[in-house]
Amino acid sequence: MPKIENNISDVTNRIEQAARDANRNPCEILLLAVTKTRSAEDIRCAVDAGLTNFGENYVQEALEKISLLGAELGEELDKELHKEPGTANLQWHFIGPLQSNKTRVVAENFHWVHSVDRLKIAQRLSEQRPIDLAPLNICLQINIDNEASKSGFSSDEALAAALEIAKLPNLHLRGLMAIPQSQQTLEKQKIAFYALHNLRDQINRSLDNSKKLDTLSMGMSNDLEAAISQGSTIVRVGTDIFGKRDHKREKH
Ligand SMILES: *Cc1c(COP(=O)(O)O)cnc(C)c1O
Repeated sequence: MPKIENNISDVTNRIEQAARDANRNPCEILLLAVTKTRSAEDIRCAVDAGLTNFGENYVQEALEKISLLGAELGEELDKELHKEPGTANLQWHFIGPLQSNKTRVVAENFHWVHSVDRLKIAQRLSEQRPIDLAPLNICLQINIDNEASKSGFSSDEALAAALEIAKLPNLHLRGLMAIPQSQQTLEKQKIAFYALHNLRDQINRSLDNSKKLDTLSMGMSNDLEAAISQGSTIVRVGTDIFGKRDHKREKH
């Protein structure tokens, strides 16, 4: 499916251009392919095009794909890279709303969770993270535009939450994530991303050197340029890699 490959190359070029425009090194920015509603076959195409990080929103759907692709693709990549089996596995990121009765499977199967929106969820993820795995990477979701329809900590709650969550033993608090209101112009898009960057700097002033946040998960298909201009380190892109989503396949 050359379409997905071409799309990835277009998105990668956009990321590189946006990084150059912001005097940043493009290597600082991870392209996270968002694969909700996409088939395992589509994900394989993205892996063949060189992507290794995938974002999923729905637990059950994600687990099916991880068991189908995780090990299998890991082995194929291992062969290609001449590495020991199991060392080149894909990285799975959970980016959707997380209910407390689903934290265990997420703690057991993912490398990252971007959507931590309550202290209780973080506590459960830490308790349930298997000790033979590396600490689970965490971003706090911030409701940066204070929208009633979106989850996340408010900017006012974020510092206290970060200080608590940074103490949890089996988590590695990496940074902040936000899904701003959609805006039509680049200049308007930058405002929320600027605010998220500022919030991270403010939190970092209160964290020990060894605990500083290094991640801003912000920017999607329509606003990745604005996000990169404001310091994004992970852009989460679905539509511009895989095409428009079939909304009938989206469960809520
Ligand atoms: C679906 C989704 C994306 C991808 O959005 P696109 O506009 O398709 O690029 C990014 N982040 C989150 C949290 C999502 O749910």
